[in-house]
Amino acid sequence: MPTCNTSNLNTAAIGIDLGGTKTEAILLAPDGAVIWRQRRPTPRDDGYEAVLTLVTEMIRESAGQLPPGVSYTVGIGIPGSIDSGTGLVRNANSTCLIGHPLQADMERLTGCPVQLRNDADCFTLAECRFGAGRDYGLVFGVIMGTGCGGGICIDGAVREGPHRIAGEWGHLSMDRDGAECYCGKRGCVETLISGSGVEAAFFREYGQRLGMDEIVRQARAGEPRCRSTFDHFLDDFGRCLGGVISILDPDAVVLGGGLSNIDELYSTGLEQVRRYAFHDHLQTPILKNQLGDSAGVFGAAWIGQAGVK
Ligand SMILES: [Zn+2]
Repeated sequence: MPTCNTSNLNTAAIGIDLGGTKTEAILLAPDGAVIWRQRRPTPRDDGYEAVLTLVTEMIRESAGQLPPGVSYTVGIGIPGSIDSGTGLVRNANSTCLIGHPLQADMERLTGCPVQLRNDADCFTLAECRFGAGRDYGLVFGVIMGTGCGGGICIDGAVREGPHRIAGEWGHLSMDRDGAECYCGKRGCVETLISGSGVEAAFFREYGQRLGMDEIVRQARAGEPRCRSTFDHFLDDFGRCLGGVISILDPDAVVLGGGLSNIDELYSTGLEQVRRYAFHDHLQTPILKNQLGDSAGVFGAAWIGQAGVK
């Protein structure tokens, strides 16, 4: 029977990308080759225990693909952060995780050491190793999807920080009178430039529910309400990201998540970033991810390996 290990030498790696709607598992051979992948829906309404069961099953099934005697590490990426003091999950889009000791529970259920990280950290690490961020020293990775997260990689390693919040710009409050955020503050970056945030803004303004895709489509067709919402979105993108660039001055920014497919982010959005950043001739490359949906699960596997010496 394969066993988990506390050494990363000649060890396979299991990565789990625990998303709000789907959960993906990957098993990497010691040489990095993909042995096995699996994707399953994340239980949405059955609570924390159902998520624990799913992830435990996926880890066991992944480990079951290995020949006897081969050990493995486990890394899990989640859409939230981990409180450095209590070890409890906080600020998770998958709200059933909030307040739970997910890392400790997974270690108890699997009997293995488990590395747990924010999904944006996993994304950023993967893009830095094999995606758009390779060849850059300091990379700010951004996930813009239903929510909004960020991660920082320096010379190929994730910067987590003493409070484990490095790069967590999604809950930077930009407007004290802005929309309420589930984190308890108002006007967070996530309320401005995530899909759910833009959709909520459109509903507040016009009393109609439209999805982000539809807002973008109609904005391009010239529909005035969607155009106005979309222009605000691009302006907010510039203001939020321009501020981060002014602080970090990264060598590159890599965008991920569903909204990273919006072409205007790399034209009008980039112009807005340049307008708001504290430099008149900003050169920071703002790059679209290259690994797509796969970045999170690869990053989780590599973070699991990096967590053991
Ligand atoms: Zn918030």
